[in-house]
Amino acid sequence: MADLSARMDVVFRRNPRAALRIADLMRKYVERLRPRGKVVVRVMNFCGTHEWTTVHYGLRSVIPKEVDMVAGPGCPVCVTPSAYVEATIGLAMSGVRVYTYGDAYRLPSARACDDIRSLSDAKAKGGDVKLVYSFLDAVKDASSARAESVFLGIGFETVFPSYAMLIRNGRLPEGMYFLSSGKLTPPAARLLMERNIPVDGVIAPGHVSAVIGAREWEFLPSEYKIPTVVSGFEPIDVLLSVAEILRQLSREEARVVVEYARAVSYEGNTMAKNLIKEVFSVRDSQWRGLGVISSSGYCLNDAYSRCDGALRFNLKLEDAEASEGIPSGCMCAGVISGVNKPTECPLFMTACTPQSPYGPCMVSSEGTCSVWAQHGLQLKKAVETDL
Ligand code: SF4
Repeated sequence: MADLSARMDVVFRRNPRAALRIADLMRKYVERLRPRGKVVVRVMNFCGTHEWTTVHYGLRSVIPKEVDMVAGPGCPVCVTPSAYVEATIGLAMSGVRVYTYGDAYRLPSARACDDIRSLSDAKAKGGDVKLVYSFLDAVKDASSARAESVFLGIGFETVFPSYAMLIRNGRLPEGMYFLSSGKLTPPAARLLMERNIPVDGVIAPGHVSAVIGAREWEFLPSEYKIPTVVSGFEPIDVLLSVAEILRQLSREEARVVVEYARAVSYEGNTMAKNLIKEVFSVRDSQWRGLGVISSSGYCLNDAYSRCDGALRFNLKLEDAEASEGIPSGCMCAGVISGVNKPTECPLFMTACTPQSPYGPCMVSSEGTCSVWAQHGLQLKKAVETDL
């Protein structure tokens, strides 16, 4: 017990007692499930930051071994089709300035053209690629640029209010365009349920839900009988969320609970939702590794089509087949579906590393493979160095 207490101190730094109490509760619920023949409970998260918390703080070593924590498609960079990468590489090499965030800068395409597989490669070969920290930075820079430019707008519901604000307010200078790769998360969750991916409980994304509201997850318990908890991102938040899922399962209940009540309401942020609606329409969208998902993407609506980079440059933005977007041998399709763990991929930390990513899940700080590669040994290191 003393050993475990010391370890929990390392894991939680501040409140090991609370964590131990939650761990005890989880074991109690697991015991209640046992007589019903439930030996493994699969809990899926839909946010890369939840996976980060889980791995960084070593939560899998605290949660009962009967609970299999799996990651879903919670990283917007990972699911951006290869065709987007190829199209923006083509623009950058033809003299159009491409603005992008750091993670998408290194996102590999499935097909190389003249040895160029990413915007980072394109820049090295003379392409016009500029890294920015925000859309606003890109807008400011484009105001003084002579060339045409395009901003690669990747993200989930969380970032689209800020994109919508600048576009609606007419802040894009002449010659600057927006290329939308925006995705909506609930339709991806529905797709996994329809594909019968085994999931007993869902940890719903906190930041996304702050915008869209917990109401958007009601379909999981009502149609699929899946307990769903909208969770915060501290280790205690994630533990409480798993405990709540186990509690509901042990009572044969299924409903949406907001654990992250300090940021998420049932209805969400009406102002942010209206802003998105004013500028963007929802359409079917391709997710790398999953295929086309009905009503899962944002595109600029007709009133703002003059800002649309896809229209201006006549871009082809879908891979012919979802599998075409995944590089040969990469298991990202299974990783983002919760079917495979990164360590099951033979390329993990051999041909595919954070320094030299081969597949899309190894790039972003929210990509499951990247999280496992960069933080998987965190707890071990912390214990060894007695931090
Ligand atoms: Fe794809 Fe690399 Fe992850 Fe393997 S380790 S699944 S190649 S991203």
